[in-house]
Amino acid sequence: MENFETIAIRTQMERSQYLEHSTPLYLTSSYIFEDAEDMRASFSEEKERNIYSRFTNPNTSEFVDKIAKMEGAESGYAFATGMSAVFSTLAALLDSGDHIISARAVFGSTHSLFTKFFPKWNISHSYFNVNEVDKIEELIKPETKIIFAETPTNPGVDIIDLEYLGKIAKKHDLLLIIDNCFATPYLQTPIKFGADLVIHSATKLIDGQGRVLGGVTVGKADLVREIYLFSRNTGPALSPFNAWVLSKSLETLPVRLDRHCENALKVAEFLEKEPNTENVKYPFLKSHPHYEIAKKQMKQGGSIISFEIKGGIEAGREFIDAVKLCSRSANLGDTRSIVTHPASTTHSKLSEEARQEAGITDGLVRISVGLEHVEDIIADLKQALG
Ligand SMILES: *Cc1c(COP(=O)(O)O)cnc(C)c1O
Repeated sequence: MENFETIAIRTQMERSQYLEHSTPLYLTSSYIFEDAEDMRASFSEEKERNIYSRFTNPNTSEFVDKIAKMEGAESGYAFATGMSAVFSTLAALLDSGDHIISARAVFGSTHSLFTKFFPKWNISHSYFNVNEVDKIEELIKPETKIIFAETPTNPGVDIIDLEYLGKIAKKHDLLLIIDNCFATPYLQTPIKFGADLVIHSATKLIDGQGRVLGGVTVGKADLVREIYLFSRNTGPALSPFNAWVLSKSLETLPVRLDRHCENALKVAEFLEKEPNTENVKYPFLKSHPHYEIAKKQMKQGGSIISFEIKGGIEAGREFIDAVKLCSRSANLGDTRSIVTHPASTTHSKLSEEARQEAGITDGLVRISVGLEHVEDIIADLKQALG
């Protein structure tokens, strides 16, 4: 069962006495015990079994097993949201006084975690720019514990060299944690390049249909064990219903992603030829500054494109107003194509300088290319740009 598509479909929990074909939904908060001895052995973890759904549940276990196999990981734990995965993973592993090195271009709430909340617990961070990965070693301090990054980045669609990060982490005995949300395990498996843990917001391409929130962390078993113990006490567990939805979604991840990527490449090629756009960034466009790295670590280019509209903030807003088919939404990785203008929305609270540093220019637009017919997506963008 080595091939991705087969793992996606055939990783399934044990059948119940009803011999159902498709996985049933176990909406139960708790489980019963045979007798006092069974209960004692279960609580002391001599037996591996379900006790309470804040700890484990058959549906969340199936979802986690599938992601772990896809990522080449030893084990994992599933969370209610991508952010609870990011927070609980880091909070479980960091102590007061520790230091994180992270790419500056990280998801907005992850940035808030580093800048607003971790300082409360005396956890500090240093950012590196995606174009200056060679300077990471200069940022390492005696108290540095973790290197954290997302690639492709949001919303700039830059690529960070995972092999390089893996080497630096190994050399300095640091943990490498990668948020693999934009690529999914179908396109990129960071553990192969030396990541210790991989995090996903399952809300995006893993669900892929804009329905449920979820998150997951997979990786080395000893680290996952610490994350599990933290989480079973603090309570960020994924709901069994969402786990069931997400595990079903994974069955179609490869076919969905193939089409997302095919559509996105065509849209990117179209945008590159448009007179009103510049700086079109898509990992598998030859013009992408990190095209070679993208080819090395990704199977295809993903579903997200960024580009700049000539004319700055106003032109960006006008474009967003003019789209008819594409949705105006902050989400991404949906069957429906989505456009966003970070400078006037998600990143409007950042200072001009902070935006520049994060690579968010006034005219930057992000498109999450969906599964509509590609000619219809292109026609909509064309009329909106005109
Ligand atoms: C959306 C997202 C998150 C947060 O996930 P939620 O499920 O919304 O909590 C984290 N990282 C990246 C890269 C994301 O795109």
